[in-house]
Amino acid sequence: MCVPLKRTEAIIVGGGIAGWSLAYRLYQHNVSFCLFDSGQNHSTSVAAGLINPLVFKRLTKSWKVDEFLPEARVFYSELEKITRSSFFEPVEYYKIIPDVEWINNWESKRHDENFADYIGEITKIRIGGKTFDAGLVKNVFQLHTPLFLNALERFFKDSIIKEPFDYKQLELTGEGFCYKNIRAEKIIFAEGYQVIHNPFFKQIPMVPTKGEVLTVANNRQITTSVNKDFFILPGKDTLTIGATYHWHNVSLEPEKEGIEELTQKYLDFIGEPPEIISARAGIRPAMKDRRPVLGAHPEIKNMFIFNGLGTKGCMTAPLLSLTLFRRIFEQKPLPKETDVLRFLKKL
Ligand SMILES: Cc1cc2nc3c(=O)[nH]c(=O)nc-3n(C[C@H](O)[C@H](O)[C@H](O)COP(=O)(O)OP(=O)(O)OC[C@H]3O[C@@H](n4cnc5c(N)ncnc54)[C@H](O)[C@@H]3O)c2cc1C
Repeated sequence: MCVPLKRTEAIIVGGGIAGWSLAYRLYQHNVSFCLFDSGQNHSTSVAAGLINPLVFKRLTKSWKVDEFLPEARVFYSELEKITRSSFFEPVEYYKIIPDVEWINNWESKRHDENFADYIGEITKIRIGGKTFDAGLVKNVFQLHTPLFLNALERFFKDSIIKEPFDYKQLELTGEGFCYKNIRAEKIIFAEGYQVIHNPFFKQIPMVPTKGEVLTVANNRQITTSVNKDFFILPGKDTLTIGATYHWHNVSLEPEKEGIEELTQKYLDFIGEPPEIISARAGIRPAMKDRRPVLGAHPEIKNMFIFNGLGTKGCMTAPLLSLTLFRRIFEQKPLPKETDVLRFLKKL
């Protein structure tokens, strides 16, 4: 039996980029909240935080980039100001151009006005003593995710409850929710791939997608951020290289095969094996249809979900959190392709 001592308008479960970006929307609109986080982040803290407007596979624009990117820039800049932190910056980013076919494709898209904001000129760049043809990708940014999480946790320190949320203890009161000593009008679940343990949203077709990134010594004094089927991002004294994708387990231990894959790619590109300083693994919360999943539970009033950010959470969370906020508090309809009801209609 819940004996509430504390009232809040909303409970958020999950302190990754989804949970915190929604928390900021609530703060902006003076909505009180408390956010539960189990302290074991599985994706945001591992992410390289690259915001790349292009998908290199077919040289297309990233899904809805023209909407997501402007909102992300405003959002992170605002957050940097209010938290008095620095975690978001532009990146000069190049795609290595492998052959003539690529040059032709790149050049034809470069002259297409649809791509004008994203595709720049092909130039020669030098990496590790070798010269490559490389296309400049415009409007690339990096969110330094550990710094972002740290800044948000400090700023909202009075609203965070650092413990796992126990679904069994949630009482539905009809008017809202009671959890331990907290009474809340609304609850929003943003647990990343761990939504698989959430009994209220167990039909969500989550496809947990594990990945590794490595921190390696910058022995060749590489200063250019570059992609050649994997990315190299120079930091202060080290390089971040990544990322891998695999689907067979959800342990947080970096996989031997993931480390070997990145080691081989680095060796092929730079001509010497990387000196690995550390390896990290995370689990991307990806949906079967590769679209985010937002919205209201079909049967339980005032219960919501914010998940499915997949490989692009750093770019998409800012606008999606606003979209979800408007759905929850202003009853604005969600785009069908992101609405959780595409999976839960038939409950
Ligand atoms: C190797 C790798 C590289 C990546 N690189 C990029 C990149 O360059 N750019 C990009 O945009 N994206 C990248 N991503 C994807 C990005 O990390 C995700 O899109 C995003 O971080 C997902 O955020 P989330 O908040 O949904 O989930 P998470 O970050 O996993 O956060 C969920 C939180 O919920 C908490 N939680 C779960 N269950 C409970 C519970 N019961 N009680 C309390 N708390 C709970 C967890 O502790 C966690 O902190 C990468 C991911 C990986 C793995």
